[in-house]
Amino acid sequence: MQFTRLRLSGFKSFVDPTELLIEPGLTGVVGPNGCGKSNLLEAIRWVMGENRAKSLRGSGMDDVIFAGTDRRSPRNLAEVTLVLENRDRNGPAGFNDEDLIEVTRRIERDSGSAYRINGKDVRQKDVQLLFADAATGAHSPALVSQGRIGNLINAKPQDRRAILEEAAGISGLHTRRKEAELRLRAAEGNLVRVQDVIQAME
Ligand code: ATP
Repeated sequence: MQFTRLRLSGFKSFVDPTELLIEPGLTGVVGPNGCGKSNLLEAIRWVMGENRAKSLRGSGMDDVIFAGTDRRSPRNLAEVTLVLENRDRNGPAGFNDEDLIEVTRRIERDSGSAYRINGKDVRQKDVQLLFADAATGAHSPALVSQGRIGNLINAKPQDRRAILEEAAGISGLHTRRKEAELRLRAAEGNLVRVQDVIQAME
């Protein structure tokens, strides 16, 4: 599975619809200060389900929407699509019949985000799990932003373990285990209630 295209519209400085091809191999983004290099990396993390505005250099999630300039008025929505090629069928389970996987996140001012995978509405968690199962995600060490290398070198052992787990593609299992534990606790609660009712009837 490989990232092949990134489409942005209204996201930070990318006010006009913009499409970038992501070629195989290492990708570097070069340009003058302030041209939007970091914004591109943030767009990839955002569409993967990043939910901490601070890590996108904003105070709220609406800050990713184009805020206007002297010459252009602000926008009320932003949309980013990441296209993944899955011809080798190496993608996450559940997508074995798909040559392409298109993940879209859209945000409207004051209305929050919505996600789609191949045109179908999905939850944020579905998108996060898709990328976690593909051994990547919004916090993947493969996305190297400014200051990240220093952070990795100084990381605590637990944080390094999280990096290794992500690289091994098992971080999605932790989320699923937590969900299973919550369901188990709810079922145990129901069982206790049923026993109470049976006792009351005896
Ligand atoms: P440097 O090389 O200095 O790190 P860069 O190429 O990484 O810069 P970015 O930090 O990606 O540049 O982009 C900064 C630009 O994006 C600034 O001009 C900033 O005004 C603009 N920008 C950020 N958020 C928004 C927004 N919501 N609306 C409009 N413009 C924005």
